Amino acid sequence: MRALLPAVLAALLMGGCVSTPALTVAQETAEAPAGFEPALFQRACEALMEHCPLNAPVRVQVQPLEGYYGRTHWAGQYEIAIEGRQPMQGVLDTLIHEWAHAMVWDASEDPVYGGHGPLWGVAYARAYRVVMAELTASAGD
Ligand SMILES: [Zn+2]
Repeated sequence: MRALLPAVLAALLMGGCVSTPALTVAQETAEAPAGFEPALFQRACEALMEHCPLNAPVRVQVQPLEGYYGRTHWAGQYEIAIEGRQPMQGVLDTLIHEWAHAMVWDASEDPVYGGHGPLWGVAYARAYRVVMAELTASAGD
């Protein structure tokens, strides 16, 4: 397992993408939180898709969740669910957190890479920089 680490890390750092994955961003409006900013969230998702691409379609859904802030699972595509009843900063942080899980899974099919280990940390840092760069670069628009 350890011998695979450098290759996976390199794949994460280079963000290789061999296809043109689709991005779907959805919001369940039944309990739309007051502070939620759909346009800003959409920009963050698109920046991640561009700079931290995944080799499969991604569906990001903001919705009420019970007992957790976010979840990522595989169902023929990456499906990221985010608790929308939290401050916008929390929504964005959860998006980055969950996207990082997808990045790690995307780079290796080995479930040993689940959780919040070093590879996830690298992915999180990269995704965080992408979102912050996107949101600060266009803050004056
Ligand atoms: Zn996690």
